[in-house]
Amino acid sequence: MIKLVTLDLWDTLIIDKKDNERERDLKRTDFIVKTLNLSDEYRGKITDHFNELDKSLKYPSEENEWTITPQAQLQHLFTAINAYPSDEQFLSILKFYTECDLDNPPVLIENDINICLEKLKENYKLVLISNTGRTPGRVLREILKELKILNYFDMLIFSDEVKMRKPEPKIFLTACEAFHVLPEETMHVGDSMLIDFNGALSAKVNPVLYLPNGNSIATPFIRSLFELKDSMGKYYDKD
Ligand SMILES: [Mg+2]
Repeated sequence: MIKLVTLDLWDTLIIDKKDNERERDLKRTDFIVKTLNLSDEYRGKITDHFNELDKSLKYPSEENEWTITPQAQLQHLFTAINAYPSDEQFLSILKFYTECDLDNPPVLIENDINICLEKLKENYKLVLISNTGRTPGRVLREILKELKILNYFDMLIFSDEVKMRKPEPKIFLTACEAFHVLPEETMHVGDSMLIDFNGALSAKVNPVLYLPNGNSIATPFIRSLFELKDSMGKYYDKD
């Protein structure tokens, strides 16, 4: 019997409007160049860093552990471009870099997601498990509060705070242990085959792939979070 449902955040509950992140990266680049008084030729190198970061966030590995926290991302960037900010400059860049989302925030991926979460909460503990990128858990909490979905969660696990990330099994097991629930009694929903579906499987947690647009590449999958309860009954919660 399923007792705990864990949910991915990005592209499962919230989504960026088109080009949001690109616009934020341009603003981040401007801020870094201005703060460190760098010449314009550094802009290309900073863009390279963002491209490398995006790729690494999609494929987490031991080699790219520098992507886990925004602090480490910036240190990686400054080493790559041979820039040496003072502590004060570093903190000011870090603040801008991590809080950019607040000006141009992501939106809920489906309308009435709150109704869906409310229904799930009647029967299950709900835990958010999110791999964070440039925007840390501290800022994502504010965004979730603004979107009025923060309070549905019994626990929030952000990779930059726990210093581990999906698809590592231990991040899923952290949620199970917190509620004294077995992995077999847990279901994880997310949009990434590698990070969510296979990650959950590696922890023996029951996966559901969230695919609002794409073609099915695994079973079970859902096209809307409103299908979750049916899917759960069909595949995992037959009792
Ligand atoms: Mg996702």
